[in-house]
Amino acid sequence: MKITEGIHRLGPGLVNVYLVEEAGAVTIVDAGMPGDWSDLLKELAAMGRSLDDVRALVLTHGHSDHIGFAERARRERGWTPKVHELDAALARGEVPNPAKGGGPTKPLPLLRFILLGLRRGGLRPPKIQEVATYGDGATLDVPGSPRVILLPGHTPGSAALHVASRDADMGKPARARDIDALADRSNPGRARIGNDHPGRAEDREAAQNAEPPVRGPLGDFRVAADAAIRALEDFAKGAMHFELLGIKHVRAFDSNLLIVSVSLREDSQLTRLVGCYLAETDTRRGAAMAVPNATNRVLGNHLATR
Ligand SMILES: [Zn+2]
Repeated sequence: MKITEGIHRLGPGLVNVYLVEEAGAVTIVDAGMPGDWSDLLKELAAMGRSLDDVRALVLTHGHSDHIGFAERARRERGWTPKVHELDAALARGEVPNPAKGGGPTKPLPLLRFILLGLRRGGLRPPKIQEVATYGDGATLDVPGSPRVILLPGHTPGSAALHVASRDADMGKPARARDIDALADRSNPGRARIGNDHPGRAEDREAAQNAEPPVRGPLGDFRVAADAAIRALEDFAKGAMHFELLGIKHVRAFDSNLLIVSVSLREDSQLTRLVGCYLAETDTRRGAAMAVPNATNRVLGNHLATR
């Protein structure tokens, strides 16, 4: 399914596989469940591509529902899966899931997750024998040139990947829910950054009431914060929907203070959350890190049981 120009996603909302296409070459982001391999072939075909066009497999973190066909891909295709260095041992199956145990769980999302896991080849994908690692802040030399923003919490090495827009003329950053926000960093003025979820009327309305699209550094903050939000929604498996209401950057305590305001829509309830982060130097990362500080209270139990 096409999300936007150059970004595809496999299957329904619970499958953790994205395809990023640039100049005919493809990066696979996350490896879903083992059984997603056949859907991968179908989606590539729908894009007019094949496995031969795939240049890289990048994982956002090391959980089992993100590494499904990674070992198969490594063995059969020679792609060494890339994962954040802090999740390398998890992806190789050398350490238990650090997020297991803890508080009460929400039964429905977990049940849906388990059903999907059983249908798609089990909850235990083969261990990845070998991974390559990336670090926070790196720009990966793969199609789409995603930039890494480390968002620890879900796992120590959970990362959001920002994919620079290749086609600023399309007029808006891609809003793939969890592959995260796109912006043309080389030319931020051309990337329109707003709350434009085309499919949801209430979001369009919210967008009109929210701050206008911002350009320059504040636009970058929005992109970073938005990426964090999409990543968290991914972790919540669609059980929660967040919207970025606004972001402020103020100088305080001889440092940069990034403050985000986020709304949470859960069932019919709307909750407003605020979080902040003190950033010495990397203010974009600070914008992303302010988001989990706003949402941790409501996501804590959910994430702890995944
Ligand atoms: Zn996970």
